[in-house]
Amino acid sequence: MEFINEKYINSLIDDESLKDSDLQFSIIEKARLKMGITLRESAALLNITDSKVLEKLFDAAKSIKENIYGNRLVMFAPLYLTNACVNNCLYCAFRKDNKDLVRRTLSVDEVESEARQLIMDGHKRLLLVCGEHPKKSNLDYVGKAIERIYSIDYNGNNIRRVNVNIAPLSTEDFKRLHSFEIGTYQIFQETYHYETYSKMHPSGPKKDYAFRLHAPERAFEAGIDDLGIGALFGLTDYRFELLAMLMHAEYLEKTIGVGPHTISIPRLEPATNAPAANTPPLAVDDLSFKKMIAILRLAVPYTGIILSTREKPELRRDLFNVGVSQISAGSKASPGGYKSESDNPTNEFGQFQLGDHRSLDEVVKDVCEQGYMPSFCTACYRSGRTGDRFMELAKTGKIGAICTPNAFATFKEYLLDFSSNGYSEKSETELMKQVEKLPEKEKKATIRMIEKLEKGERDVFF
Ligand code: SF4
Repeated sequence: MEFINEKYINSLIDDESLKDSDLQFSIIEKARLKMGITLRESAALLNITDSKVLEKLFDAAKSIKENIYGNRLVMFAPLYLTNACVNNCLYCAFRKDNKDLVRRTLSVDEVESEARQLIMDGHKRLLLVCGEHPKKSNLDYVGKAIERIYSIDYNGNNIRRVNVNIAPLSTEDFKRLHSFEIGTYQIFQETYHYETYSKMHPSGPKKDYAFRLHAPERAFEAGIDDLGIGALFGLTDYRFELLAMLMHAEYLEKTIGVGPHTISIPRLEPATNAPAANTPPLAVDDLSFKKMIAILRLAVPYTGIILSTREKPELRRDLFNVGVSQISAGSKASPGGYKSESDNPTNEFGQFQLGDHRSLDEVVKDVCEQGYMPSFCTACYRSGRTGDRFMELAKTGKIGAICTPNAFATFKEYLLDFSSNGYSEKSETELMKQVEKLPEKEKKATIRMIEKLEKGERDVFF
């Protein structure tokens, strides 16, 4: 189907010669050069069973991520606009045949109060999400919502980057979406396996596999050059899905000259009246999931790897160590979820069950205790460092010198305005210790930004 060559992918999965641990070991060592690895090599690493080689894989993934992006973990939260949808995806509670779901579409004022709540929690980046509905989630509405979100100011704190995960559009409509000054346009193929895709999407515009598959190219043509791809793991063999997603990344690199800015790896979670979510056809166990994320980091070293709150806190902690670079925190998966008090996991408006119900502040505290630096940075896209310009900086090892000081500054801002007393003092000390370790030029830039923040300035970055 298209450029996803199922026959070739299956031949890699069945290739006995790729089960050799010496070969796997040499591939891991090669990957430390941060040049990525081939599809064939990724397939070999999927076969790792030897625990020593597995440890090598995890170690390599951690060091590659930290070598490129430092120890920062970028934070964001989803904001659901509506759960109205004309599609019928068998893994989603928003599907049109789910008659038990209370349908809700936020007014622009309600969007503002949701976003204001997230700003008051300390967030700076949002991912806008909505079901596909010609009336309830059309571009006029999405545009008004984004405009309103960017207009909110709370003592100098605001949402500085709105990423968007909405249904695929025509090139002309992507130009309109681009004009709303969005950050990343994210679209998940859900599954690259054509037969499974047809089964999971029995009706609605989402049935069109090819229109969805080629959406990133249309978005790029329209001027959106930070693109996010992903798949919903558990619908088909995770090895097939991972290799197909890497094939997609390669294809984008070849056709539009830049690979995906981010890759998301959601796993199926229970959802009301969603048969495929409640009985996943091919659920992915935790160890295979961890292995998959590490292989992704080796295969596409410069791509952001996004881990959501679908996963439980203890597993998320572990997965931070194998190359994850962006995480959602304090999330709600329902329209109006931030303002509505009810936080039962499967509330009547929700898309799926969350695994991590902690607040942003609890996650920030935990991330610090693990030695990572929470980052709320949005500097690159506001400085024109997007698409191939971003990748150029990443591939030449220059991005770290920008990421780390900006991460420190946004964390300092968070500590000054949002952190609970329980840990801010300790984190302040830890933060300054890490600043001291920076190379001279970055140290000076970071201290200058921190001084400005202490004097009351906000939103400082370079
Ligand atoms: S996955 Fe998206 S398109 Fe499918 S039913 Fe859910 S909201 Fe609609």
